[in-house]
Amino acid sequence: MNRSIRICTTLVAMSLAQAATAAPLPAAAARTLAQDTVIVDTHIDAPGILLETWADLGNSAPDREFDFPRARQGGLDVAFMSIYTSARQDEDGSAWQVANAMIDGVEALAARHPDRFALLTSPRDVERLRAGGRVLLPLGMENGAPIGDDLSRLAFFFDRGVRYITLAHSANNRISDSSYTLEKRWDGLSPFGREVVTEMNRLGIMVDVSHLSDAAVRAAIATSWVPVIASHSALRHFTPGFERNLSDALLVAIARDGGVVQIPFGTAFVNPDAAAATQAYFRAVDAFEKANLALQASGEPVRDRAAFESAWDAAHPMPATDMEAVLVQIDHAVRLAGIDHVGIGSDFDGVSGHLPEGLRSVADYPNLIAALQARGYADTDIRKILGGNLLRVWATVEDGARH
Ligand SMILES: [Zn+2]
Repeated sequence: MNRSIRICTTLVAMSLAQAATAAPLPAAAARTLAQDTVIVDTHIDAPGILLETWADLGNSAPDREFDFPRARQGGLDVAFMSIYTSARQDEDGSAWQVANAMIDGVEALAARHPDRFALLTSPRDVERLRAGGRVLLPLGMENGAPIGDDLSRLAFFFDRGVRYITLAHSANNRISDSSYTLEKRWDGLSPFGREVVTEMNRLGIMVDVSHLSDAAVRAAIATSWVPVIASHSALRHFTPGFERNLSDALLVAIARDGGVVQIPFGTAFVNPDAAAATQAYFRAVDAFEKANLALQASGEPVRDRAAFESAWDAAHPMPATDMEAVLVQIDHAVRLAGIDHVGIGSDFDGVSGHLPEGLRSVADYPNLIAALQARGYADTDIRKILGGNLLRVWATVEDGARH
């Protein structure tokens, strides 16, 4: 999700709250399965926080949701690092700089701890590189803003290791419409956006439809010659009217196309009240920005955005949520899309600590596994959800590339 500037202030308070409400230990069978299956999480926002407040994630970093010791404890093998840039960084022209600095940060982390981390650029390298207990770090770019209007930057970012791109984030951009924007610009993808998708196909970069408008998701599926992914998208079935979450029809369309929908853990996506508040937040921001434009036009001083944000947060506390909210999403997705088309994309470090009880950090995948086992999922199916499906789609995208 990521509203960038609002993350840091809440982190310390949240980690203290987490310590006080630690979940019970999962069953031994779940811990064993977590360790011997390849767990893939397609959305972890660690790089953004690294730029704002540096920490060595190779060692314990208790005020974050991702660090090496807890990743090992939770059995996490493949952690997609989110190279996130905001709509504002798109507007002010800093997205290219920020994205490259974030990638530098991930490279530095892996270089500092070659025994603990390795960059990952192909699903074929997972077994070889994870030997010895390494946590593998592929890159997923959230928002196509750093591409600007230059198609050649796709090859540049492919060479830097980017293996999926979420075409847009919280606002319409040059490539695509966003689910959060009230007034759409392109009615789906722009003409440039269709060229971007085709070039991503050619290079072997997965097309990520999370955050896109419904029309843009459909256009991405239609344009892409390989399956698409939703790196962190929950289901609108549980949150009516919240376009950020996928409708049943789009969930099925992604699955029929051979793709995979990665269910996030963040409260704002899986809790219906929180989703409604998030939708209202984007409407309020829209109204706030329009009011400021009017003030600016009439030569009056504009209102402070940070003050607006903190007032909003104070008036809309996130509701407490339990893991059941994530499990019902997985159940529904499996029922409609099939067991081969569902995965996980937590959004750890990207949701200001607003996460369900029992799914607070990368140490907690065994809790999810134990809950899936308790619901009757076979271990072979749990392996698919926890990573097998995503690795299959990634390999298909790699095979479809035409270098
Ligand atoms: Zn997001």
